[in-house]
Amino acid sequence: MTRTRKMPTRTCIGCGRADDKRSLVRIVRTSDGHIEVDPTGKANGRGAYVCHRVECFDAAVARRRIDSALRVHLHDDDLDRMRRDLEALLASAAASQQGR
Ligand SMILES: [Zn+2]
Repeated sequence: MTRTRKMPTRTCIGCGRADDKRSLVRIVRTSDGHIEVDPTGKANGRGAYVCHRVECFDAAVARRRIDSALRVHLHDDDLDRMRRDLEALLASAAASQQGR
């Protein structure tokens, strides 16, 4: 059975799995050209999505998928910073789930 309630889906650029938008982490290219992890999913700019898994981020990086999705050239320090932001986001999400 399919539900009539429509959920916007996005595709993970790491593993290619499509999922509910809220189940994915958005990576955004802001209007001033910075690339950031976007925890709200609402920042203005061109976005790409990965699962809540560092493995998918790493896979996307290894295949240069973020660069092509966002039409940028990412440097290693950008990738390191985003990976740390993603890890922090995943850690806080895990902590808030445990608190329920
Ligand atoms: Zn994935």
